[in-house]
Amino acid sequence: MAVRASPHVYTIEDLRHWENAAGDVLPAIKFAVIGDPVAHSASPPMHMAALAACGIDYSYVRLHIHANDLPEAAGLLVRNGFWGANLTIPHKASIIPLLVTVDPRATLFGVVNTVAIREGGLHGYNTDGPGLARAIHADFGASLGDLCPLVLGAGGGAGRAIAIQCVIEGCKRITLVNRTQSKAEALAVQLRDIARNLHPNGKIQIECASPESQGLGRHSTESELILQCSSLGMKEGDASPFPAELLTSNHLVYDTIYSRPTRLLEDAQSVGARTSDGLSMLLHQGALAFEIWFPDKEAPLQIMKQALAQAVSK
Ligand code: NAP
Repeated sequence: MAVRASPHVYTIEDLRHWENAAGDVLPAIKFAVIGDPVAHSASPPMHMAALAACGIDYSYVRLHIHANDLPEAAGLLVRNGFWGANLTIPHKASIIPLLVTVDPRATLFGVVNTVAIREGGLHGYNTDGPGLARAIHADFGASLGDLCPLVLGAGGGAGRAIAIQCVIEGCKRITLVNRTQSKAEALAVQLRDIARNLHPNGKIQIECASPESQGLGRHSTESELILQCSSLGMKEGDASPFPAELLTSNHLVYDTIYSRPTRLLEDAQSVGARTSDGLSMLLHQGALAFEIWFPDKEAPLQIMKQALAQAVSK
């Protein structure tokens, strides 16, 4: 008897015996998000809704794969007839040596969050950075490249990807802020290199500011967009990573955290700043992945957005 695809989390053992584990699941499983942990991922409901809306009779599931098992899992995805996957922590960098091709933009990021499986191999892309650029446009009606951003949490994976996207988009001035300042400084060196390569005739100013310094006030005044990429705010009672007194009604404030309302967004709203949370980044990276897998289709954004909102509110 056929079994409907469910929130079940599959493992490497299932991939090794795929016919037994999933042979009778309908719609047939062709897509997955791969991570460790992965049970919390909101990608399956978002992509299942998109597939159904486009009349594509396949399923998207969660695959819990430990770091050591990733090379074997990559081979098994091909053998078991998968069409595509998303990568999350801790696989975004370690998937790269297992790919047949890497999209040049993903090479810039040094991490891949989407693979398409074609001609017996895995082809890697990064839709996180472009997803953020689309989210800023959708939420604030402004092109990221026309804004001067201040990136909070620039030392982490998300902050790095977002700061690189700011360079790709041609932002004229980018301020990097991180608790451990040496990480922001190392990123600034890399960003200046990328900027020289991508925009040889452009002038992109990349500066670092300490979260505690007096100078943060000047950087804040000169920045139109605050991009919050640190993990501070994910837990109830977390402080804001940015002093409330530096926020003004002129700021656009984007917090990549989407699991709960953060103190930063509350502070920003209380001074009349326009705000948005990371759900739109998650949505747009997913929509871009969908369009990589189905280049002749447009991702059904509204349906994906509803499915995501429902999944994260549970
Ligand atoms: P990560 O690589 O572990 O980086 C964590 C960052 O947060 C680092 O910059 C770290 O600073 C900073 N941080 C941690 N605790 C802090 C504290 N108490 N005070 C100040 N800074 C602190 O994590 P990640 O993968 O980049 O994820 C970071 C955030 O991005 C998470 O909240 C995640 O939800 C969000 N995210 C959202 C999306 C989306 O689609 N919306 C996608 C990816 C990530 P140090 O360098 O000093 O340790």
